[in-house]
Amino acid sequence: PACFTRPKAKRWDHHLSLEAKSRKPSSLKGAAKFLSRPGMISLGGGLPSSETFPFEEMSIKVPRAPKFSEAETHVSGTTITAGKHDIKEGKSLFDLEVALNYGQSVGFAQMVRFVTEHTEIIHEPPYSDWYCCLTVGNTMAWDATLRIFCERGDYILTEEYAFASALETAAPLGIRIAAVKMDEQGLLPEDMDELLSNWDEKARGAAKPHLLYTVPSGQNPTGATQSAQRRQEVYKVCQRHDIFIVEDEPYYFLQMEPYKAGVPPPSSREEFLKVLLPSFLKIDVDGRVLRLESFSKVLSPGTRTGWIVGSEQIVERFARHFESSNQNPSGFSQLALFKLLDEEWGHAGYLDWLMHMRLYYTHRRDALLEACEKYLPREVTSWVPPSAGMFQWIEVPWKKHPGYAQGKSHAEIEEAIFLASVDRGALLSRGSWFRSDKHMAEDKMFFRATFAAAPTDKMQEAIKRFGDALRAEFGLKD
Ligand code: PMP
Ligand code: PLP
Repeated sequence: PACFTRPKAKRWDHHLSLEAKSRKPSSLKGAAKFLSRPGMISLGGGLPSSETFPFEEMSIKVPRAPKFSEAETHVSGTTITAGKHDIKEGKSLFDLEVALNYGQSVGFAQMVRFVTEHTEIIHEPPYSDWYCCLTVGNTMAWDATLRIFCERGDYILTEEYAFASALETAAPLGIRIAAVKMDEQGLLPEDMDELLSNWDEKARGAAKPHLLYTVPSGQNPTGATQSAQRRQEVYKVCQRHDIFIVEDEPYYFLQMEPYKAGVPPPSSREEFLKVLLPSFLKIDVDGRVLRLESFSKVLSPGTRTGWIVGSEQIVERFARHFESSNQNPSGFSQLALFKLLDEEWGHAGYLDWLMHMRLYYTHRRDALLEACEKYLPREVTSWVPPSAGMFQWIEVPWKKHPGYAQGKSHAEIEEAIFLASVDRGALLSRGSWFRSDKHMAEDKMFFRATFAAAPTDKMQEAIKRFGDALRAEFGLKD
């Protein structure tokens, strides 16, 4: 296959933290390689016998592709059962005996194979030595990333508005944020280049950043999506300044149909693959990208399962890190996911499901935008329809607020609008909550609304209430 003829990834020793460099393989996990010797009787690892697992079988009822709706699943869904000894009995490649015991920290081979094949289908990484390792989701994967790449006091680069939890992971580790300005396509490569070219080590009290954290598709909170060209430009700046890229992509498959463009949705899997934007992984000729993948937004957050993709050197450091922390995701989760994804749907059925998600979110976004167009006062709101994710970012020209002339601050006016909306029974998120550099002055004001959570009619009612709150706050007529 082509993957063997591609070049190898660059080495990143100079970017690894002391913690990452200090990790030795787990001696117990390391001994597992001898288990495959024929006739070996293991008295080595303290693996409990599966006789002691009080779980004989597990059943899940799932949609039969392509009948994906809840109603269809209820009527025509298929019930899959996993037994304890299915492997020995020749019924399946995975079973409870294996899934419920200790395994390697990269995840059980069955699931690692599935996500590796999926990665090759979607991203075709352009270097040869890339690997996948299961994670318990992007939250933990990001925490591990920071420990593997950063020291206390380091700066990392990220969008000027960023996912609040990602910032909250970095803060107590003593990692500081160098914020990169954004437009409606997210990160501005010129601003990043300028920031790095003019980095003042003395004034900042730290070396130039070497890690970029970015959410290229449906960025949380702005909903911005980087175009293919933008990704190339950002990648070039990272090459120029020796930056390692972390793409946190839970919304990658929530790329939606262009808003009101009247073009028909992809009619085949081949067409679907063509309309997906190239990931950083796909353009990563150097092996400088770590991709964080999560099933949270496409299957469900409670699976607590995702995976990372990166070069052998980097993925190996994660495997060592997980050996002595969370190990692998829950065996129940891995087994349920394998039964659904590999045995029931296969890659083709999973792509069909992802196409279904694309349309589902397109409809939800359209319903929210319809409400925005109908109910929000245009004098004091503006927005760009998002092309991916689950967030609508709404700009409010706060200097038109009557409080501004009276000397009220950005924070006071933002709070007044927020509370006026809460009083009317509509909860939106305040833009300032996502400010990545709290010291950087904020000259714009935003609110974030999600079209993921509430039923369509409730979501539209909430936008109406937010519109009423804005009219009251800005002293506009109804
Ligand atoms: N602590 C001790 C003393 C143990 O012996 C083990 C398992 N061998 C663990 C922790 C690991 O526990 P867990 O499977 O809950 O991560
Ligand atoms: N990263 C981003 C940008 C997110 O918006 C979220 C969820 O809100 C996560 C990570 C969390 O992902 P996970 O459930 O995989 O931990």
